[in-house]
Amino acid sequence: MGFLRDHTAMVTGGVRGIGRSIVLEMARRGAGVAVTDINTDGAENLVREIEFLGSSGLIIKADVSDGAQVQNTVDQTLAEFGKIDILVNNAGITRDNLLMRMSEEEWDLVMRVNLRGAFLCTQKVIRPMMKQRKGKIINVSSVIGIMGNAGQANYAASKAGLIGLTRSTAREVASRNIQVNALAPGYIETEMTAHLPQDVKENYVNAIPAKRPGSPEDVARAAAFLASPAADYITGQVLNIDGGLLIA
Ligand code: NAD
Repeated sequence: MGFLRDHTAMVTGGVRGIGRSIVLEMARRGAGVAVTDINTDGAENLVREIEFLGSSGLIIKADVSDGAQVQNTVDQTLAEFGKIDILVNNAGITRDNLLMRMSEEEWDLVMRVNLRGAFLCTQKVIRPMMKQRKGKIINVSSVIGIMGNAGQANYAASKAGLIGLTRSTAREVASRNIQVNALAPGYIETEMTAHLPQDVKENYVNAIPAKRPGSPEDVARAAAFLASPAADYITGQVLNIDGGLLIA
């Protein structure tokens, strides 16, 4: 089903984990994909996988928290594909610590990558999207941004901030036919969560009504839906992908 045929997507932090799955799902649905990441080791394989799915990929090494690098990424993507229809702000990091012990560096770094990074990428793709009167922006937030978590005040604040960014941007650009939504994944098995102690992982799974962790593909399918024409009248929303963890 090539419902993203003739679309171009830019995915930040797309070389591994959830971002990589989003890249492959977008390619499977027909989109050309610009993959940007601060670490591009092993990215040649990803381009081959994208091509195997019948699409084209471009890897750009860039730090989302650096405005000049983000501008260069957008310029390179436009030069290669001619347009950007979809932006997925997926790059994110953790620097966990109890608030009492959290250093200013731990706070600042998480806010820079997770929140400032999404702001910069959004700001730099919004002009070409406005010109073409069409666009989808998907911010990868987290259930932690909604519920909070001991030891993750910086991460939770950045992910809650992304929800505010999503809703405000959605209001600013809705009349230009640009939709802005957030995904709030729950506990997803990736390298980011691999280091969690076994008992913490078990506690998460016990608290999830579906009784299993999510996979990157669970998140990627939701991202492809929000990027598709089927979601043209959905904007400013937060979609939880958490096996029921946050059923209110
Ligand atoms: P991951 O660590 O496996 O992948 C993150 C990717 O972002 C990596 O490829 C990394 O190189 C890249 N990155 C880091 N800093 C960057 C920067 N400054 N500029 C550009 N790229 C950068 O993590 P993941 O689990 O795949 O998480 C992806 C997103 O999903 C993150 O925003 C994370 O907060 C969010 N999320 C993850 C979970 C989970 O359970 N894994 C749950 C909710 C939300």
